Amino acid sequence: MKIIAIGWNYAKHNEELSQIRGNGAEPVIFMKPDTALLRENKPFFLPSFSDEIHYEAEIVVRICKMGKNISQKFAPRYYDAVALGIDFTARDLQRKFKEQGSPWELCKGFDNSAPVSEFVPKEQFADINNLQFHLDLNKETVQQGNTKDMIFKIDEIIEYASKFFTLKVGDLIFTGTPAGVGKVSVGDRLEGYIEDRKLIDFEIA
Ligand code: MG
Repeated sequence: MKIIAIGWNYAKHNEELSQIRGNGAEPVIFMKPDTALLRENKPFFLPSFSDEIHYEAEIVVRICKMGKNISQKFAPRYYDAVALGIDFTARDLQRKFKEQGSPWELCKGFDNSAPVSEFVPKEQFADINNLQFHLDLNKETVQQGNTKDMIFKIDEIIEYASKFFTLKVGDLIFTGTPAGVGKVSVGDRLEGYIEDRKLIDFEIA
């Protein structure tokens, strides 16, 4: 399986990281390898190569059908469930790579950089494009988002990404993070919710 992720998909987050986007720009896509996946709310161990690991809470979509060149109109047939994920990012390395114009794999795709909660069938939500989610760090809410604020909606992301990559059953799409990203430290606890359903609850070790 592969993990496809979208960068700069919420305007307020782009502001907080001083990322200027032009109108009509295409989605920014990067990938994480399958070794990035961390499941079952296992603890996340801080890696030695970064002093600034940031959490980014994101809605994750699970692909249920193989497809390529999928049009927006048919995109809903290709995903069956959503989860909450954390796109852990080595922000110090990312800053360096942005300055150098280098790719993001090392700061975004390292081992365990993609915790993903249990999956919830999409039918359990009234509207996938109006999903509230939030992340608490040590019992304090640090990120709040709603998929209606995504610059590129789920179906648009699927249309765009599937021009380049064949989507396969079990692939995951991280759909971008809202404002409020920040650093994690040893002993921190992350708890994440979609609507009022608690899906993420793990510690930083
Ligand atoms: Mg992200």
